[in-house]
Amino acid sequence: MIVKGAHRIFAKFCPQEARDGTTNEDKHFGLTTLAASIDHLLPYSRGGTNDDRNLVTACGPCQFGRNQWTLEEVEIEDPWKYPAVIDEWDGLTRLMVMKGRAPVDPNV
Ligand SMILES: [Zn+2]
Repeated sequence: MIVKGAHRIFAKFCPQEARDGTTNEDKHFGLTTLAASIDHLLPYSRGGTNDDRNLVTACGPCQFGRNQWTLEEVEIEDPWKYPAVIDEWDGLTRLMVMKGRAPVDPNV
């Protein structure tokens, strides 16, 4: 995920890479890979619910690449078997610091 304020700065320097329209053609694939989405482990179309144990955070390629297939069908292990990964990703807020703006509210 790229926070809105950082995305505006990114778009000034890399307008083609930062394009973020409403269709797949209007979006740069790189942004799709950085976008976080809520994914159903057992797909909703296959009877999955919105119960917390059926929901995980996934990037676009992971969510849409798996589509309606179950974890077993694509031979992916249940992510609940492992502890959550907390990484160093900053949502590109470092761009805001570089421009002299403190990332006080990442959604502004
Ligand atoms: Zn992914």
